[in-house]
Formats: sequence, C-alpha cells, structure tokens
Amino acid sequence: DEYVPVNQFVDFDLQDILQNNLRNRGYVIPSPIQDQAIPVALTGMDVIGIAGTGTGKTAAFALPMLNRLITDKNSKAIIIAPTRELAQQIEQEIRLLAKGTGLSGVILIGGTSMGLQLRDLRHNPRIVIGTPGRIKDHINRGTLKLRNFNLIALDEVDRMLDMGFINDVTEILSNVNDIRQSFFFSATIDNKVRRLIDTFSKEPHMISLRPSAA
Ligand code: AMP
Repeated sequence: DEYVPVNQFVDFDLQDILQNNLRNRGYVIPSPIQDQAIPVALTGMDVIGIAGTGTGKTAAFALPMLNRLITDKNSKAIIIAPTRELAQQIEQEIRLLAKGTGLSGVILIGGTSMGLQLRDLRHNPRIVIGTPGRIKDHINRGTLKLRNFNLIALDEVDRMLDMGFINDVTEILSNVNDIRQSFFFSATIDNKVRRLIDTFSKEPHMISLRPSAA
C-alpha cells in the first residue's frame, strides 16, 4: 500500500532557518522515512532507520541533528559513511540544509589532502563527515577528539560492515560521548548489523520502510 505522510515539513518543530532552507530547496512533503523518523528524533531518542538509497534518509537524520546543533551550542555531530562518494553526497545535502546557520564542518575522507583536513580540524568544526578509515586515522593522530561529540549518525551500516569496517566503526563509536543521540541507517538488517546497533544504542526507536525484509 502507498504510504500517506502524516506531516508536512512545516509541522515539524524545526528552527526557522531550517524551515526557510527546506522551503528554498522545495521540500514540502516529507518522504516516508522522514515523516516517521524526524518527530521521534526531535524528542532526542535514538533512531534506527531501515531504508535504502533514494528514500530521503540523509535529511531524516541531518535535520534533527542540525536542529540540535543550532539550539545547543555545545553539541557536535559526526556522520560516518562507507564510501567517499556517499560522504560527499551527505556533505552537499547538509550544506544546503544548513545554509546561513554558520555551522562549521569538515569532511574526512581518503584521497584528499590531509593538510586541508588538519586545517579544518583546527577550527573546531561542529560537524564531522567522513569514512571510517580516515576518521580513525585522525583519532589515532590525536587530531580529532570525539569526547564532546553527542550526535552520531552511521549511514549504510550494512554496507560499512560488508566492506570490513567493523573494527574501525567500533573504535570510533567507543570514542564518542556516552551521553548522546545516535542514528543508524541501513538498507538491510542482519545479525551483524543488529549486534552493532544493540551495543551502541539506548532504547532505539526502529522505523522500517520494508517491515517484511529480513
Ligand atoms: P537520499 O535518499 O537522502 O540520498 O535522498 C534522495 C534524493 O531525494 C536527494 O536528491 C534529495 O535531495 C531528495 N529529497 C530528499 N527528501 C526530499 C523531500 N522530502 N522532498 C523532495 N526531495 C527530497
């Protein structure tokens, strides 16, 4: 059956600047995952989203994160993606959604200048987006300290584990603040994905676009 959204974006309790950016971007009706995830996420709960590419999952975690970053000046966010391309796509979407907020960010991926990343990191970014290997490199070098990061999103968890990033991801998650809000998005959920989420989330709310999927 066709999913009928309950909300429009204007119904969400999002900061005016985000509402303006949504309007400018032409986002009026939330996608199913956004419609279900955003209200829950705005209460501060951990969210698991079972949704694949093209579902609007990026804005589903980015909007609640940005809202918190704007309203709580001490908050910091890290977003982990399996590939450089996905990390860059997430950055582009966030750049548009965060326009005019003054929030600073850094993208930490392989194959791009370490020097630029180190420079951006020295400016104390509020948003870090990257791939597991490069994020771990920066943690090990002491150039990225995650103790004060209280918002974390893992995108395409299943793919990240398939690519062999379990140890890197576990190490990164162990470094972020215990008091935090976590977002896990995955196209599929198997035992490996489930175990990682169970270890690093607290009473998460699960939203599944495909309830019949394994
Ligand atoms: P994603 O699944 O996050 O990669 O998003 C897929 C595409 O849909 C991207 O190009 C988004 O810019 C676009 N998009 C996401 N949410 C909406 C929405 N509520 N209305 C219109 N377009 C959207």
